[in-house]
Amino acid sequence: MHNAPAIVILGNTSLATARRIQALYPQAEIHGLRGRVEGVEQPYDDFGDTLRELYRRDTPIIALCAAGIVIRTLAPLLQSKGAEPPVLAVAEDGSAVVPLLGGLGGVNRMAREIAAALDVAPAITTSGELRFGTCLLNPPAGYALADIEQGKRFVSDLLGGETVRIEGDAPWLAKARLPVDDRAGRVIHISPADRPASGTELLIHPRVVMALVDSMEGDTAATVRAGLTGAGLAPLSLACLLAPCGRMSDAQLPRAAEALGVPLRFIADDPALPALNQQVGGIRLFVSPEPVDPAAIGQARGRLTVVGLGPGAAEFMVPAAKLALQQAEDVLGYETYVKMAGPFRPEQVLHCSDNREELQRARHAFELASSGRAVVVVSSGDPGVFAMAAAVLEALEASSDPLWQAVDLQIFPGVSAALATAARAGAPLGHDFCILSLSDNLKPWDIIELRLEHAAAADLALAFYNPISRARPWQLGRALEIVAGHRSGDTLVVLGRDIGRPGETLTLTTLAELRPEQVDMRTMVIIGSSTTRRFPRQDGGAWVYTPRSYP
Ligand code: SAH
Repeated sequence: MHNAPAIVILGNTSLATARRIQALYPQAEIHGLRGRVEGVEQPYDDFGDTLRELYRRDTPIIALCAAGIVIRTLAPLLQSKGAEPPVLAVAEDGSAVVPLLGGLGGVNRMAREIAAALDVAPAITTSGELRFGTCLLNPPAGYALADIEQGKRFVSDLLGGETVRIEGDAPWLAKARLPVDDRAGRVIHISPADRPASGTELLIHPRVVMALVDSMEGDTAATVRAGLTGAGLAPLSLACLLAPCGRMSDAQLPRAAEALGVPLRFIADDPALPALNQQVGGIRLFVSPEPVDPAAIGQARGRLTVVGLGPGAAEFMVPAAKLALQQAEDVLGYETYVKMAGPFRPEQVLHCSDNREELQRARHAFELASSGRAVVVVSSGDPGVFAMAAAVLEALEASSDPLWQAVDLQIFPGVSAALATAARAGAPLGHDFCILSLSDNLKPWDIIELRLEHAAAADLALAFYNPISRARPWQLGRALEIVAGHRSGDTLVVLGRDIGRPGETLTLTTLAELRPEQVDMRTMVIIGSSTTRRFPRQDGGAWVYTPRSYP
C-alpha cells in the first residue's frame, strides 16, 4: 500500500481546490510555499527539493500547478529505477487532472477519483488502458505479473493488432475489451508455475500458495523460497506466511514475511487443504485452487499503540503517532481527544468514551487488538503523564490472557501540557522542576500535601496538572497556601489555558496575585522557583525563564 498522498501548492489561489482533494484523501497533507500560502499542514521553502524528496520517499504527489513544472522538476530522478509513486498535475482551479507517472502504482485510478470529485474528465492517456478497459500490467489483488518489461512488449503487440487467448482463470478479464481469438498466437497465462514468460505470453501468477512455519530453523524466508522452487512454484505465487497463534511474539516471523513481501497471518488450525510433499526445514506448503485472500485467513498479530496527541495543534504531534493514527483500524479515547486526532477515513472505527472510564477503555483496546486489529488509544499531551499508558499497562498486568500478552504494544510519547505551556512562556522549567496532579480522585489528599511541602521546600519549579474542578473546588487554594509557606509573593506564575488549541491563553502573574478563580480544569499552572525571572519581549509581553545555573 502506498503512503498517504501529498498535495503540493504554490499559492493561496490553489488552496480551495487542494481542500476539495483533501476531502477525498483525508490523510493527505497540504504542502504550501512558505510566505505565499498560509495555514497549511506542511510549509516548505523550496518547491523542487520538496517534490523530489516526496518522490524519493514513494509518496503519491498531487501537484496543483502546470504539468511542465512537475515534469522538469522530477526529470532528474526518472532515470534511476527506484520508487515510482503516482504523480498527478491538477490545474489550480480544478479544471484539469493529468496523471503523469506511476501507471503501475494506480495513478489512473487516482486521476479518475480526483476528476470525479472535481466534476471533470481525467486526462487518461494510457493506450492499453483506454483500448482494453483495464491495465493488463496491473492485475487485481490476488494476482501478480511475472515480468513487467515482457508485459509492456506484450501490451504493445496487442495495441499493434495481435489477438489473444486466455489460459487459466482470469475472472477480471471477462469485463475487459480484449481482442480475444481462440487461435491467437498471443496468450495470457494464469499459472503459479515457476518458469520464465515466453515471448508471446503474458504470464500472471495467481497468489495461491500458503507457507506454514511449523518450526524455525535458520533463515525462514530462504527456506520458504527453496520450498517453492522445489515444488516448481513461482515466488510470486506465495500469498502469505502462516504461523501458529502461539508464535505471535516471535520477532523473526515479521522479518521473514517482509523479506518475502507477503502478509503474516496466525492460525489456530492447519489450513483445510492437503500439504504439498515439500517439507523443508519445518515449513509446509499449501496450494489453494483459488487465489488466497490473506485477510480471510486466521488473524494478524494485533497492534495496540498508545499515542500522545500533544497539546492540541497537529504540528506538535510526533510523526510516529500520526502514522499510527493513519494505520489504525480502531481508535479509542475520550471523545474530545478522538475528535482532535482526526480526520479519519470512513472505515476507521471510533470508540469514544467518558473521561473516567480509563481501565474499561484499556481492556476494550486489548480485546480489539488481540483479535488481530490495529488499535490506537489516544491521550492528550503525553500518554504517560496522568493518562492512558499507565491504565493500559495496569490492564495488561492484571490479565492472564495469552492473546493479550501477544499483542504488539507500543507507547509513543507526546508533548505534555507542562512542556507546551512552558515553551509558550519561555523556559520556566529550565532548571529542576516537579510535576504534580492536584487531583485527589486517585490518591489521598494527605499525600498531595506532603509532596507539595517537600517540592516547595526544595525550591523546585512546580507544574500542576488537574489543578481544579467543580468536584474539587478548594484544593488549589490549599496547595497555593503550602507553596506560599516556602516562597515569596512575587514568585512568578504562568497559567496556560487550552495551549495549542483554539482560544489559547497565556497569563503571567505572581504567587501573591494568583486567585483560584483564574484557573479551571483546562489550565496548566506553573509556579516558578526562587530563581525564575522575567524580562520584556518586543511584542509587549514577557519572557519567563529559570536560569540553568543556581546562584
Ligand atoms: N496527558 C496530559 C495530561 C492529562 S491531565 C498531558 O500530558 O498533557 C489533564 C490536565 O492537563 C488538565 O487538567 C490541564 O491541567 C492539563 N492540560 C492538558 N492539556 C492542556 C492544554 N492544552 N493546555 C493547558 N493545560 C492542559
